[in-house]
Amino acid sequence: MGCPRHARASADIAYLAAAQARGVEVRSGAVATGLKRTGGRVTGLRYTDAQGAQEIDAAEVVLAGNALGTARLMEGVEAPPLFGRGLMMHPTAIVTGLFADNIQSYRGAFAAALVSQQFYETDIARGFTRGFQMQALRGQGPLTTALGGYGLALPWGKAHAESFAASFGRSLSLTVTCDDIAEDRNRIALHPTRRDAHGLAVPRMIYRVGENSRRLLDFGIKRASEALREAGAGALRVNPLSRNAGFHLMGTARMGRDAETSVTDAFGRVHGVPGLSIVDASTFVTAAPVNPTPTLQAIALRAGEAMRGHLNARTETTA
Ligand SMILES: Cc1cc2nc3c(=O)[nH]c(=O)nc-3n(C[C@H](O)[C@H](O)[C@H](O)COP(=O)(O)OP(=O)(O)OC[C@H]3O[C@@H](n4cnc5c(N)ncnc54)[C@H](O)[C@@H]3O)c2cc1C
Repeated sequence: MGCPRHARASADIAYLAAAQARGVEVRSGAVATGLKRTGGRVTGLRYTDAQGAQEIDAAEVVLAGNALGTARLMEGVEAPPLFGRGLMMHPTAIVTGLFADNIQSYRGAFAAALVSQQFYETDIARGFTRGFQMQALRGQGPLTTALGGYGLALPWGKAHAESFAASFGRSLSLTVTCDDIAEDRNRIALHPTRRDAHGLAVPRMIYRVGENSRRLLDFGIKRASEALREAGAGALRVNPLSRNAGFHLMGTARMGRDAETSVTDAFGRVHGVPGLSIVDASTFVTAAPVNPTPTLQAIALRAGEAMRGHLNARTETTA
């Protein structure tokens, strides 16, 4: 989203200038439209920018378009059979408690004021595998409260002001974020006929919350409800599945040793397709119930280190 004061360590602030100082050339405003291939090897990329259609040759092409963008550029590549499957998200339930006192809950940081990983690990006695993280979200600002954020639907008309006063500054939510499981039926597929203006196939996201994840969320809703009641909340509102929580895409090109059970090796190199790597959260094997980007950055650093080694080795062999 960017930070207007440039105070946040987003990629543009933390990495871009340093990378450019080391010789990285950024071609912004470009849309990659396809891979160049010679036999089974990927040898470069086709893209379109303000100057029109362009091509670039490369010893290694690294796709980092996230599950949807990467899948579109993989069209026609003879990837291992699991490619596209095993899409994981972070299904999230939200329990909101209303407090009699005005606790000024509209103040402070929105998320992560309190984080609990008490139920992070598997305990089969609970009736599901894996676990979840709970996170406190402060109350909403005035507009979102008025519009009924987090299921606190307020009536319009005369009763609105009274309901608003009973909600604003008096609510606190706990999220239950689930360690999702990779299931083959959850996947990214390309539309058979529809294409965008650049000729790229339109992607389809096919996803249903699995049985294990549903059981886990239901258990978590009970624990979050207990915690809020213990804290003094009166009425509770439960959102069993936040629609807004479908924003962490993981899996679809899982890493592993075997082309039958994975898509890339441990460094993102696609099995059986020399010259092509995938370095985004597509390569995750598990989702964990935490935000994905720090793990993704660690994987990117690790893949970069390995790539430097194998590209140097190739240059030396060629020389
Ligand atoms: C609302 C929201 C909130 C989030 N909050 C958090 C958070 O708090 N913590 C956290 O850890 N994670 C968070 N995430 C997840 C985080 O944004 C992702 O994990 C991260 O951005 C993934 O990085 P990436 O570089 O793999 O993919 P992306 O950041 O998605 O970048 C992929 C890029 O590839 C580009 N692209 C795709 N196809 C093409 C093409 N053909 N040609 C040219 N460019 C192309 C896309 O335009 C995009 O810029 C959030 C996500 C959302 C949507």
